[in-house]
Amino acid sequence: MKDNLNTDRRGMMIVLSSPSGAGKTSLSRKLLEKNKNLFLSISFTTRPPRSLEVNESDYFFVSDEKFIDMLNKDEFLEHAKVFDFYYGTPKKPVMNALKGGKDILFDIDWQGTQQLMNSVQDDLVKIFVLPPSAKELEKRLLKRNQDTDETVKKRMSKASDEISHYAEYDYIIINEDFDESLKKINSILIAEGLKRTRQNKIQDVIKSLRDDLF
Ligand code: 5GP
Repeated sequence: MKDNLNTDRRGMMIVLSSPSGAGKTSLSRKLLEKNKNLFLSISFTTRPPRSLEVNESDYFFVSDEKFIDMLNKDEFLEHAKVFDFYYGTPKKPVMNALKGGKDILFDIDWQGTQQLMNSVQDDLVKIFVLPPSAKELEKRLLKRNQDTDETVKKRMSKASDEISHYAEYDYIIINEDFDESLKKINSILIAEGLKRTRQNKIQDVIKSLRDDLF
């Protein structure tokens, strides 16, 4: 009887969206730390960096001119304008990672998610993270202390618009307790990875099993 049956699977594109301040960035960091096959898609943005952000690690911070130039050269998989700034996912690193069988995590908004739906629907796993309440969202935005009061106000009023897109997602996580939310997202990743359609070599596995059964 053969052992070491290989059930290699296709890479997944995991989208995490949420209103700003719902805890998505901290969740992403922890997920990346724990899942060695998961890689973050680092976006380009024209937003200025916040105090603790690092260029080429949190974002590629670029000028409007550079962003428009990349857009004209069709270098983005998706892009959107969020809070007066441009954000975009570069095509090349995503395509290379997928080819290498890696899973990719996208921290993008609903506009970007809709664009990905049109191009790579089958590989997408869409997760929406909600704050437990409006008060908690405001508290988290203020605690972050990286935006001006005016920006916080803007982000609060935008949150309602963003939340209205919840139905475009496969999973909803109410981020009340960080560790619990992390566990839930990990369970989603495990279950999605086990989907029959993602297991590239399952036919070989079945054939081999059936051969051994006779
Ligand atoms: P922030 O300025 O707080 O880092 O991000 C603002 C919003 O832009 C967040 O909802 C974030 O998910 C979204 N975002 C970040 N990068 C991208 C991107 O490449 N594409 C799109 N569509 N949204 C992005």
